[in-house]
Amino acid sequence: MGIDLASRLYAGFNQVAHLYLIYYGYQDIDWAQAQYAALQTGLATGDSAARNNCQTESTCWGASSWVNAAGDGIILSTVSPWGKSDPNHSSGTLEAHEYSHTIQQIQMRGTAYNYWNLPRWLLEGGAEFSQAAAVYYASYDAYLAERQRDTGELIHNATYNEAWFNAYLGPSTSPTWAPWETYPQWRIYDVGFLVSEIFSAIKGPDVIMQMYKDVAGGKNFETVFAETFGMSWADAVPILSRALAKEVA
Ligand SMILES: [Zn+2]
Repeated sequence: MGIDLASRLYAGFNQVAHLYLIYYGYQDIDWAQAQYAALQTGLATGDSAARNNCQTESTCWGASSWVNAAGDGIILSTVSPWGKSDPNHSSGTLEAHEYSHTIQQIQMRGTAYNYWNLPRWLLEGGAEFSQAAAVYYASYDAYLAERQRDTGELIHNATYNEAWFNAYLGPSTSPTWAPWETYPQWRIYDVGFLVSEIFSAIKGPDVIMQMYKDVAGGKNFETVFAETFGMSWADAVPILSRALAKEVA
């Protein structure tokens, strides 16, 4: 269901013709890795792809998505006994999130560009916002509950003031994601969610995927942003930071 809903959210964009979902638990890591390796022809990456999502029995909660040399999508997704009581493992949001990554990747396939040519927080935040918007499309209250689950760590926390958001969003995106590596990892998800929500409120959700397509066409993120929103990224960051600081306070 989550995949179908994410697919419909981005119905105007190229998507994969075939999608393989590999569900596995802690006991099945080697099996999952073998399934993955059989599909992942022509790519040398991801030797421990299955294990990365499932480091220990009690933290076996990850998922990841890939597009192989044939242009097919592959999603590795863990299932754990406790997953039934975790909304992210039972509502379809995990699948919607991973399939949003598949669509992001397919926009850039066969070009000289990849998703690290856009901000790290847009990759994860765009997928995190998409999972909420896609799965909870029918209920604003349910969307808000998902939004709270995804962004709650930012709320009523004095750390996340205007200066913090300026520092976080300000760095140029190329050629590296290093600026975001010094922060708690979840910030790429929750800050990215809230920025993606603002982008979507201004231009509609398509804009989140369109930026990947436009960067794949050979423009950098700053150029694509300026052409899309009619203002430079440098000018937009202080405005976004002011709004986000007020929102989470
Ligand atoms: Zn993700």
